[in-house]
Amino acid sequence: MRHIARFLAKTAGQLSRVLGRGGGTSIPGTLLMKLRPRTLQEMARELDQGIVVISATNGKTTTTRMISNIAQKSGFSYVTNASGANLTGGIASALLEKNPEDSFGIFEIDEAALPDLVNQLEPTIIILMNLFRDQLDRYGELETTLLKWAEMIRTLPATTKLLINADDPALAYLGALHTNVEFFGVGETQYGSSEIPHAADSLYCQKCDGALLFSQTTIGQMGHWKCQKCDLERPEPSYTATAITLKELKGAEFKVTTALSTTDIHLPLAGLHNIYNALAACAVCATVNISSSHIQEGLGSMRAAFGRNEVIDYQGLELLLLLAKNPAGANQNLKTVLLSQGKIHLAVLLNDRTADGQDVSWIWDVDYEMIFDRIASLSIGGDRAYDMALRFYYSGFPLDQIHIATKVKDLLSHLPTVAGSNGKVIIMPTYTAMLDLRSELSKAGTTHSFWEEK
Ligand SMILES: [Zn+2]
Repeated sequence: MRHIARFLAKTAGQLSRVLGRGGGTSIPGTLLMKLRPRTLQEMARELDQGIVVISATNGKTTTTRMISNIAQKSGFSYVTNASGANLTGGIASALLEKNPEDSFGIFEIDEAALPDLVNQLEPTIIILMNLFRDQLDRYGELETTLLKWAEMIRTLPATTKLLINADDPALAYLGALHTNVEFFGVGETQYGSSEIPHAADSLYCQKCDGALLFSQTTIGQMGHWKCQKCDLERPEPSYTATAITLKELKGAEFKVTTALSTTDIHLPLAGLHNIYNALAACAVCATVNISSSHIQEGLGSMRAAFGRNEVIDYQGLELLLLLAKNPAGANQNLKTVLLSQGKIHLAVLLNDRTADGQDVSWIWDVDYEMIFDRIASLSIGGDRAYDMALRFYYSGFPLDQIHIATKVKDLLSHLPTVAGSNGKVIIMPTYTAMLDLRSELSKAGTTHSFWEEK
């Protein structure tokens, strides 16, 4: 029965691809879970080097790819859900496709789905990277996710290793609920700030509700914190990113410092958020005894994940895609954009479909103003383009300088007229706007469909 169920589910996925019904990335797994729900646990147990699961609001796809890339360099045979299908169906589908020699699982998991999937997958390592406000209509408040995660952690066996971002105050507090835990964090850096951005969440102590005091903030509420009322403070990380140099949009250099070693990392992905992603990947790989030279090699040869700092050549134009789906992520992208020199051509795409979250009020928490004086041209697109245009207009951006095109196709065809035929354009889309964009670019023969990525 077990094999029949797996065979049927796999065939459904192949059929879906042949019939052109999208990537079929979740269909086989979803079907399998209906036919035989216990199969997920059975398949997971076949991976005898264990499973690492990665959850966060931002960065889980990139981190998953970083760990995969390092694992590949070190000769691990692994299975992963690289296409970002991060609910039960997507994980089951990935496991269905695993090769007999695969012994390690690397899965990104949706924040809300994490407790249930941890229960079924029985991972050996869980990485908790950050929690920001995202899709309020779907997840409810941050507190709901935090409570569910806390409950999950209380039932973990001691053999499961938790790797937690020490810089995120609410997550760091969760670490106290488990014995087998290590932290990672960014050390003192010139790219930190002493101010708390207004998109920050979790500004109060999880233990006593006292206000948190920050000596450094990096992204949103992340940084060096301590409670003003009780003894709770940022735990000392086992893995610290030090000597960080951000190299405009080209990448970053930094060191990962542990009690025993220091490893130089050259990362070809830009922005401070990618330092956190890389640090999480280092922590995982060191935990499974991958050598620092393989970690260096894996991170040094990273290519951007689907739409995350990805550069695409479109008829001579250079498009830089920066997925922006919540305030913390969008602000981080804007800061990354500021690392570049000169004026920029910017396109912002806002959709409000299920995967984006239907509540678009989050755009008012993004500090778009920080790049106003760098904008040479502004194009706005997506289903809710007019909401986004209003956001810019209310902050003083001249309305007659905003080009609005709700259809991606029209937006793309407008870009060469503002940026020149071989100019550069920075595009910040929400998730489904990114899919629309990819589909248009794909039709133009520019890029491959995302589900073809391994
Ligand atoms: Zn406190």
